[in-house]
Amino acid sequence: MKSIVIHAAKDLRIEDHPVEEPGPGQVLLRLAAGGICGSDLHYYNHGGFGTVRLKEPMILGHEVSGVIEKLGPGVGGLEAGQLVAVSPSRPCYSCRYCREGMHNQCLNMRFYGSAMPFPHIQGAFREMLVADALQCVPADGLSAGEAAMAEPLAVCLHATRRAGEMLGKRVLVTGCGPIGLLSIISARRAGAAEIVAVDIADFTLSMAMRVGADRTINTRNDPEGLAPYLADKGTFDVLYECSGAAAALAQGIAALRPRGCIVQLGLGGDMTLPMMAVTAKELSINGSFRFHAEFAVGVELMRKGLIDVKPLITHTVACDEVLSGFDLANDRSRAMKVQIAFA
Ligand SMILES: [Zn+2]
Ligand SMILES: [Zn+2]
Repeated sequence: MKSIVIHAAKDLRIEDHPVEEPGPGQVLLRLAAGGICGSDLHYYNHGGFGTVRLKEPMILGHEVSGVIEKLGPGVGGLEAGQLVAVSPSRPCYSCRYCREGMHNQCLNMRFYGSAMPFPHIQGAFREMLVADALQCVPADGLSAGEAAMAEPLAVCLHATRRAGEMLGKRVLVTGCGPIGLLSIISARRAGAAEIVAVDIADFTLSMAMRVGADRTINTRNDPEGLAPYLADKGTFDVLYECSGAAAALAQGIAALRPRGCIVQLGLGGDMTLPMMAVTAKELSINGSFRFHAEFAVGVELMRKGLIDVKPLITHTVACDEVLSGFDLANDRSRAMKVQIAFA
């Protein structure tokens, strides 16, 4: 079976690996769709991000759906032929944070396609994947591509939980890649009254309008676009910072009203921030990293038609065209979410 393996920056290969057998509590999946994520792109473009560096070849991918080919011993509640969304979150369920219900902070996390630990945790871009039944959420009624969107959606549902009360709030989203767009969708679903989206590319901002933003501002063309929101110490209750850019964070902080909340999702490495404003306006800074329980919530909301991720999937490429898929995913003037069709 084919696997998509990153060896170093710009060295992505399709390799042949043996198919594994599902053990007790596991299933064998025929992969259906796999979304290319910002972190996959970082490995492809730069061989890592921040202090995280590739030290050995690694199968990429953590946004996947698949069709169950075979059940291992003792698996109930799933059946062969069923489409499932596969959560890449594999906590140990026994460390102190797992026991406290903070599975995303697991001390022994084995999140697919991550070079954070060494040996690296191999990812899910492979034609046949053995996964724990616990990772699989039935996705009946969804397309393979929608089911593969459950992972980035879960990231944004978790961020929305980290933002706290959302009903009637005014929300600013900086950075309108897939995570920014799914943050808009999640905030609206949670009751946000007004959502303003900021980016430096017109294509992504047009997508933000499409998924429900009330207004967009291109701060490259209109550097003073946020000025009206700075009156009376600021306007927004919540900032979803999805760009990882220090300039966006600073602009967002200036536009937050007193006691507003920053939810930091963007991973841009360490950055300086206007701490005087944080102190004087009594802002909260909440990091948000991955998810756990929100994965199944996201699948349920999609299945009920309460969240529609289809507009985000701009391109689907065949497995053999994965290289052009990665180049396409790098082009933010026309691609939002690029997915690989494995079957
Ligand atoms: Zn992702
Ligand atoms: Zn744990």
